[in-house]
Parts: sequence; structure tokens; C-alpha cells
Amino acid sequence: MPSSKIPEVGVEVEALCTKCKNATMHVITTVKEGEISRVKCKKCLDSHRYRPIDEKIKKKLAKLKKMKKAKKPSQSRETRKWNKLLEQADPENAISYRMGATYTEHDVIQHDKFGLGVVVKILEPGKISVVFSDGVKNMVQNMKSR
Ligand SMILES: [Zn+2]
Repeated sequence: MPSSKIPEVGVEVEALCTKCKNATMHVITTVKEGEISRVKCKKCLDSHRYRPIDEKIKKKLAKLKKMKKAKKPSQSRETRKWNKLLEQADPENAISYRMGATYTEHDVIQHDKFGLGVVVKILEPGKISVVFSDGVKNMVQNMKSR
């Protein structure tokens, strides 16, 4: 049987770390009867019993990774549509945003803080929804100044 490297203290092995909840590089700290007994995680520096990575664990880790990816908020169709509007917005046509002004859908506005935006929805007579490069914000319009 072709055996790989003989486990030795100080040698690095990939093992499962319960603290990192991942397969990380470990340094062997204890070898008993030719088998790795204890290891130290290079990432969190935690010393623990050696947990070899078998296929089952690999699959589990891959599944976890996938789930994490799926959790990432994906842009809704509406957001994509709005972002496209923003991309196509012509900064030269932008009007500077004022709370007292009245806007209509697709108006391009320039905000002091948020930059270029496009009015995507009139929510209420006094409230509009505007998409900026960092997201959609509700803004005030038609505010009466005294
Ligand atoms: Zn760790």
C-alpha cells in the first residue's frame, strides 16, 4: 500500500476545524503510533483533535458554501430595470434635487450627497422613489417652504 507522508510533528495537513467550520491548514502537534493525534489550526490557532477530511465532509462543506452563495441577495427584476435607467441617465440633463420641487418618473436628478439619480416612482404627492448608484431611496418632493 503506497502510504503518503508519515505524519510528523510540525508538518502541515489539511484538516477540519470545528472553530472555523471549514477545511483549513493545520500543523501537527501530536503524533501517536504513527497517526496524527492533535493539530493546531493555522487560521484560528486553536488546538484540537485531528479531524481528517473525508468525502462526506467535503460534500457537506461544498453544500454549505452553496447555501451561503444562495443567500446573497440577488437583484430583483425591478432593481435591475432601475439600475439600467440609472446607467442610461444623462448627467447633463440632471436637475439638482430640491425638496420643494415636483418630479415625474424618469426625471434625472443630481443630489448633493447621493449623486446622480433617476426618479423611478411617484409614491405619494410628497414622496418619490429614486435610484442612486448605491440603491433606491425614498425622497421628499413638493415640500412647502415658508
Ligand atoms: Zn480554525
